[in-house]
Amino acid sequence: MNRREFLKVSAALGAGTAVPAMLGGCATRPLPGSGEVTTTPTVCNMCFWQCAGTLYQEDGRPWKVVGHPDDPHCDGRLCTRGTGGIGAYDDPDRLRQPLLRVADGDGQRFEAVSWDEALDFIARRMTAIGEQHGKDRLALFSHGDGGKHFQRLLQAFGSHAYAHPSFAQCRGPRETAFGLTYGEGVGSPDRTDMANSRCIVLIGSHLGENLHNSQVQTFTRAIDNGATVITVDPRFSVAASKSQHWLAIKPGTDMALLLAWTNVLVNEGLYDRDYVARYCSGFDKLAAHVQPYNPEWAYLETGIEPAVIRATARVMAGNAPATLVHPGRHVTWYGDDTQRSRAIAILNALLGSWGRPGGFYRQEKVKLPAFPAPPLPKPSSDWKQTVQGDFPLVSTGISNRLVEHSIGDDAFIKGWFVYATNLPLTLPGATEQIKAAAESLELMVVVDTMPAEITGYADVVLPECTYLERYDDLRNKAERTPTLALRMPAFEPRQQSKPAWWMAKQLAEKLGLGRYFPWPDYTFVLDWQLKQVGSSLAEMQRLGVKRFARKTRPYFDDGEAIRFNTPSGRIELWSSLLAEVGQDPLPRYTPPERPPPGFYHLNYGRAPAHTFGRTINNPQLFELMPENTVWVHPSAAAVHGLASGDYVRLENPNGRRSNRVRVRVTERIRPDSIFIVHGFGHSDERQRLARGVGADDAALMHNVKIDPVMGGTGMRASFVRLVDDDAAPQGGLT
Ligand code: SF4
Repeated sequence: MNRREFLKVSAALGAGTAVPAMLGGCATRPLPGSGEVTTTPTVCNMCFWQCAGTLYQEDGRPWKVVGHPDDPHCDGRLCTRGTGGIGAYDDPDRLRQPLLRVADGDGQRFEAVSWDEALDFIARRMTAIGEQHGKDRLALFSHGDGGKHFQRLLQAFGSHAYAHPSFAQCRGPRETAFGLTYGEGVGSPDRTDMANSRCIVLIGSHLGENLHNSQVQTFTRAIDNGATVITVDPRFSVAASKSQHWLAIKPGTDMALLLAWTNVLVNEGLYDRDYVARYCSGFDKLAAHVQPYNPEWAYLETGIEPAVIRATARVMAGNAPATLVHPGRHVTWYGDDTQRSRAIAILNALLGSWGRPGGFYRQEKVKLPAFPAPPLPKPSSDWKQTVQGDFPLVSTGISNRLVEHSIGDDAFIKGWFVYATNLPLTLPGATEQIKAAAESLELMVVVDTMPAEITGYADVVLPECTYLERYDDLRNKAERTPTLALRMPAFEPRQQSKPAWWMAKQLAEKLGLGRYFPWPDYTFVLDWQLKQVGSSLAEMQRLGVKRFARKTRPYFDDGEAIRFNTPSGRIELWSSLLAEVGQDPLPRYTPPERPPPGFYHLNYGRAPAHTFGRTINNPQLFELMPENTVWVHPSAAAVHGLASGDYVRLENPNGRRSNRVRVRVTERIRPDSIFIVHGFGHSDERQRLARGVGADDAALMHNVKIDPVMGGTGMRASFVRLVDDDAAPQGGLT
């Protein structure tokens, strides 16, 4: 595979006890009440994992949503957040009608308008941008199922620029790193074969708190089966509490540990010699490269004793190939993230776990043809070259780059569509840039179910109905069992909310682009696609989930000849593509910055009840977790005279302060670090439950490290100190 071919692969890639107690959903049918019970198949949209479920209603009133028993993707359970679907439908703060920003004296305000007025306004602005600057000047930010309809609309118009924050702010480094090493990424859902693992190594991966339903279930199964778990984390996470080995590493030094483990595997001859000889290239260069990185050296960097490093490396090797060094998911930490993910990919290759039971399996999905439609016009310019040409290995959009290229009169991007992503709380430390972009842009359209900080910047806000009120694309994820699942409406859309496909089609027609949406409504698309694979919409409305037979084997056969999609056709321990673009072909260690005196490493993570900031205002989920707390080690608490339950504010070195946040004094965090759950600290006054509650980690990030390989934003290099609760927030609520 050459660089151009690699780009095609990475384009396809672009677009969270054991812990049964963390899975709050119900594995069985709910008990019926005395009224008439009806059921509707759905696919949960409380996060992007897309578990299939069933909505139960009694006498037409929503009652409960539960996991679909035939869905291998959720195994009959929804997670804690998934049970909050009815809360999303019922939320009294939902967006109800299209809103248009209008002048109001010296200021501005939003005015409720009809759909026709809102869409006419957007079509006029798009046309004006096209005439004045070119039709290639719009960008889409998207994190959700409906985003593809707006992507199609913008591409039909002539604008191909898009970004999913799930790339540059989340799993982009690992997809890039595994793509460089194996010629394909880890995918989503991840192709990790944890249920069959004998040893699982988690590096800053908070399984159980970061609740991706089936992933946590397979982790649970592995523990039940006696797998050894090694957790590397400055914090004693839920996963650490289920581990035989908790390595409380100094923040930012994970690469040192990975290189030392590699050193031990190589120097003690513990790697899978047959697998490496058959499938890998660059072993000799790797072996020479890791010689300086011995456990004694790593001890000084990581604080982990050499004996522990050697012992855990031997445990990994002793269980190989059923050892999974987990690639993690949110891996944009210190800016060297692609290289750290490469070190993880290399370790797995040495252990022979790629393509083997207990390591990584081959995924398969249903071959579902696209609905017949005219081909989209070719773009008139190369937006990637303009916006992110200095990241030649990346073919998907880098969201932070698109923001930067939207600021100023000469900016390339002139208009945004933002679908289901609250950029101010998603892009670290970018609040001022987003404000500047909003002032420069000639059009900003925000599509969402809820008001949020980003809707405050919009020219037009379009209210989307919730997943329980709409059809969406069939769920067709690549995983172990090819399966289709249907999301269909259980209710009429509330107020004036509409599905994304409807909005995009209406806009296309106003722009004279209706031929690219050649169907009367989306049921035609679904029924046509299903009939191509021997089913129908009527059948899926009855079944909800349908399984299909695999056509490929999930694991490599013994001795199977395999050509990997890399330039050499082998697993590249030494990356020729990285060398070609002037990056390190083997991972190197760079010591992290240390906090200034009085400051702590800012660590953040997830909680089972919430999906980033999107669910904080959900009445059901808010009740489960109404605020975040700041974890503080007892020694740090003593310095500040703090006790659990006290309130403090967090302040970064630039003087930016958070909302008040409650202290949790615990030995489960290192003395040099604090920890908060991400997603809190909303400032939008229309989110009446979430506003002003808890601290926002993203706004405190002052030291964002850009990954030189894929452009992602490293978010774990920031520092905060603890200040008095009565100190006022600075720079707005965080
Ligand atoms: Fe819903 Fe939970 Fe599945 Fe996400 S993981 S789709 S929130 S049930």
